[in-house]
Amino acid sequence: MIPISRRDLLKFAGITAAGAVLNSNKTVEAAEPPKQQNFNFNGAQIPTLLRADVCVVGGGPAGTAAAVTAARNGASVVLIEQGTVLGGLQTQGLVYPAMPTRIFNSDTPYIADLNKRFAMHGINVSFTEEPKYANGGDAREYTPELLAFIYDELCADYKVNVLYNATLIGANTTGGKITAAIVHTVEGLSKIEANIFIDATGDAALSRFVGVPSVRGSEHTGRNQKMSFRFEMGGVEEMKVYKFFVKKLKDGWCESKPPEFEFAKTTHTEKFYYEGIQRGEVTKDDVAYIQAFTILGKPGTMSMNCPEVSPFLYSSTSALDRSKAIQQCRIMIRRLANFFKKNIPGFKKAYISREASMLGVRESWRIRGKYYMTGEDYFNAQKFPDAICRSAYPIDIHDESLNFEKPLANGEFYEIPYRALITNEFSNLLVVGRCISANFAAQASVRIQPTCMSMGEAAGIAAAYGLKNNIAVNNIDWANLPAEIRSYVSAG
Ligand SMILES: Cc1cc2nc3c(=O)[nH]c(=O)nc-3n(C[C@H](O)[C@H](O)[C@H](O)COP(=O)(O)OP(=O)(O)OC[C@H]3O[C@@H](n4cnc5c(N)ncnc54)[C@H](O)[C@@H]3O)c2cc1C
Repeated sequence: MIPISRRDLLKFAGITAAGAVLNSNKTVEAAEPPKQQNFNFNGAQIPTLLRADVCVVGGGPAGTAAAVTAARNGASVVLIEQGTVLGGLQTQGLVYPAMPTRIFNSDTPYIADLNKRFAMHGINVSFTEEPKYANGGDAREYTPELLAFIYDELCADYKVNVLYNATLIGANTTGGKITAAIVHTVEGLSKIEANIFIDATGDAALSRFVGVPSVRGSEHTGRNQKMSFRFEMGGVEEMKVYKFFVKKLKDGWCESKPPEFEFAKTTHTEKFYYEGIQRGEVTKDDVAYIQAFTILGKPGTMSMNCPEVSPFLYSSTSALDRSKAIQQCRIMIRRLANFFKKNIPGFKKAYISREASMLGVRESWRIRGKYYMTGEDYFNAQKFPDAICRSAYPIDIHDESLNFEKPLANGEFYEIPYRALITNEFSNLLVVGRCISANFAAQASVRIQPTCMSMGEAAGIAAAYGLKNNIAVNNIDWANLPAEIRSYVSAG
């Protein structure tokens, strides 16, 4: 298992210094970002490509769960995804593994089903170490390739109509309802008409386009969390790597044991990376945050949770910065890979086997919905009658320390209310995943993959229920739904 404490250690490695190569000579001046993104498509002659009960925008862990669950509950569903694979950061971003919620019984039925599918495909999600928490509290492992396949399989089983290579660029609205999502596809602009819309874009794109109030970054500094661009290295002799870190560098940090283990930058290994800087092989920024995992089901391959770029230089809410961050990270990846090959036994024959096809954005825009979660909800282990899931995952901020990142007491957990997924402005809109209604601190806990999936699942149930019973989704009282159809019932 991968205790979060080790990740926390890395955050104290400090904020990276300024000095990125690509940002030094700006030749393009960015215009002020437009305040109003809600272009009026209502009068435009845009052909309708598809019609469905529910339209989910964004096929990440949250959106896929929403689409599959709505379909499983009887709705016809279109799932719009700008990439060519479902899973969002899990697959395109190579983000691995699913972090633990650190609390018993957090798995909602969708996650339990997903785990069964993994087992059927030969990946045993029953852990490499003794699980600490039953039923969902521990980290879960997968390969991005298998997950992509399973998501397609799930969508086929429940007849979700997936529209790949379709980018949401706007929406039609009337009288407090969204009537169509406008997408760009190979056919040009098209409308997807639906009764209910679920924004699972991670960036609250649909919500912002239709004018739902949103916030971004820290309330204290204005900065977003640091972004990363992940990669994988193949041809790794894992046992040699393990022995190097544990025996040679005497790094007791790496508690997990082969075949599944990880290495990172810690106080024990600081000198090792510092010497690389001295020799000019890597920069301070390159090694500011290092974390590498073996991958269950991919022997000889390690997943790199790095490099990270400074939020002083690159903002996740700037299109130009995102692009420049990718270019900068690609340079950093080359340097890191060469450094590993040269200095870590077991990496001699290693090579970059895969680069992310999506930038690792931890946090960008979040909506202001009916309920706005805060760090206090986390610290008070707040329970809600309309709770849709539980978690005890710590407030995990890559950048500033807010002095309250300490974990909850053992066995304590907070819940997420359904009201954090709905808005005052639109009666037929649900928002799920990392862009729900939460402040900077709360988002830093709710953003992990299992929690995003549980949010999607609840939204899918609510959408199908609202359709069947003719109730607007932003008027549904989750607490009054029949217990047998709820994916989670509050412990409060
Ligand atoms: C570097 C990094 C490391 C992390 N580490 C972990 C970890 O170890 N474990 C863990 O559990 N969590 C981790 N997380 C967090 C977790 O992966 C994310 O918070 C989670 O994936 C968010 O899920 P989501 O569905 O809300 O959004 P995303 O995964 O971002 O998915 C959003 C989807 O929407 C699509 N989309 C966006 N805009 C549009 C549009 N306009 N039109 C069509 N499609 C669109 C995207 O292509 C994408 O597929 C990490 C995150 C990062 C960035």
